[in-house]
Amino acid sequence: MPVNPGRVVVAGGGLAALRTAEELRARGYQGQVTILAAEPRPPYDRPPLSKQVLMAPPDAEPDTTLKADVDALGIDLHLGEAVTGAEIAVQPGGGAAGKTAGEAAGSSPAELRGTVRTARGTYPFGCLVAATGAVPVRLPGTGRQRVLRTHDDAMALRGLLRPGLRLAVVGAGWIGAELATAAAAHGCRVTVVEAAAAPLAAAVGAEVGNRTARWYAETGVDLRTCQAVESVADGGLVLPGGGWLAADEVVTAVGVRPCVDWLAGSGVRLEDGVAADEGMRASVPGVYAVGDCASFVSRRFSRRLRFEHWDVALHAPEVAAANILGGDEVYDPVPYFWSEQFGRMVQYAGYHGAADRLTWRGDPDGGRWAACWLSGERLAAILTVDSPRDLVQGRRLIASGTPVDEGLLADPAVPVRNATAA
Ligand code: FAD
Repeated sequence: MPVNPGRVVVAGGGLAALRTAEELRARGYQGQVTILAAEPRPPYDRPPLSKQVLMAPPDAEPDTTLKADVDALGIDLHLGEAVTGAEIAVQPGGGAAGKTAGEAAGSSPAELRGTVRTARGTYPFGCLVAATGAVPVRLPGTGRQRVLRTHDDAMALRGLLRPGLRLAVVGAGWIGAELATAAAAHGCRVTVVEAAAAPLAAAVGAEVGNRTARWYAETGVDLRTCQAVESVADGGLVLPGGGWLAADEVVTAVGVRPCVDWLAGSGVRLEDGVAADEGMRASVPGVYAVGDCASFVSRRFSRRLRFEHWDVALHAPEVAAANILGGDEVYDPVPYFWSEQFGRMVQYAGYHGAADRLTWRGDPDGGRWAACWLSGERLAAILTVDSPRDLVQGRRLIASGTPVDEGLLADPAVPVRNATAA
């Protein structure tokens, strides 16, 4: 029997926020749903920013708006209104102080669990969902450094990319690789500086990441690994030991941190973002977290994990919404991520953190290949290059936990789904 959570306030304005609201409605919740979104732009998709948007001709602006009829869903969407703080307490019978802008249209006092603040007012809630995503980490230094997180970031970068521009990209992770791909396609002179020994080392380890290094060279991108950066200065990068890399523009792509400062002092436990349980519940009753800002307990991988994956922002809200309405669902995904870089489709499913060995499928110096991480007899994770079928089949094997035959898995002539142990 669904429970009435009272007014649901969602902090954040991206995919995870919108999906939470959609899922509440899909499950029949008819009460008030308020989304407080820092950005002035209606919720949009981020993956196209480093792909279609950067690749687009100068006069085009690809539409990245997420398709959802906010009015038809009856969502109270406040754009350009960042949440700055939260007071959270279970106060049966009322007790949230003062008359507030939000109260005028809010839940009954009996349902109040707290309030959140913005520059425009306070909003009482019966249920709070943190969906505030993540923000790029920046490097020290006073020189101009750009980042790629928002639609505006992407449009600004797109406007700069022109033949001959000396572009320094700090970080050879997913975003750095996609950015380098687009910049090279526009004729920029691209240098990618990476502190680790290989591209994608932080995401998939240096052994696998190293197999992508030649893609940079083939595309005319100067990749410099094992190269730390001290700071960004006017006209380039300051390198350790007095080194200098001149650049017309610098883009920092060294990772993100979850956007949870607004929860400081609220009593909600923060541990690599909002620390949620396996049902996306935060440590305080009535508070949930989804998307890039949430770490959650993964039953499948027996640890707390946080993903910056579109697929997680899409699906975790299903579980959060179900539980907000009194359910007891578990979010236990085989996480999935994709990247389009240097003309290739790279896909990753699973989690290799607990794997004990790596097996190659196909020739990693060739066109199509896969890296398969094994944990005992089971497939823990798979990364595929231009092999979507292998990815789909591998993801199913990870989900089912079926024991695999390593020799069969390594043989590209054998479909991944048939690489099971006898
Ligand atoms: P976000 O999309 O970050 O949305 C959070 C929103 O909350 C933001 O609009 C933010 O402004 C707002 N906010 C922050 N603080 C507050 C506050 N205090 N109050 C109110 N609002 C606030 N994933 C893939 O799987 N494949 C890809 O190819 C891929 N490509 C990507 C390319 C780029 C350029 C980027 C940036 C990300 C990419 N991702 C990709 C990751 C994917 O887009 C994210 O995992 C996803 O957007 C997370 O959604 P989210 O709603 O949790 O967070």
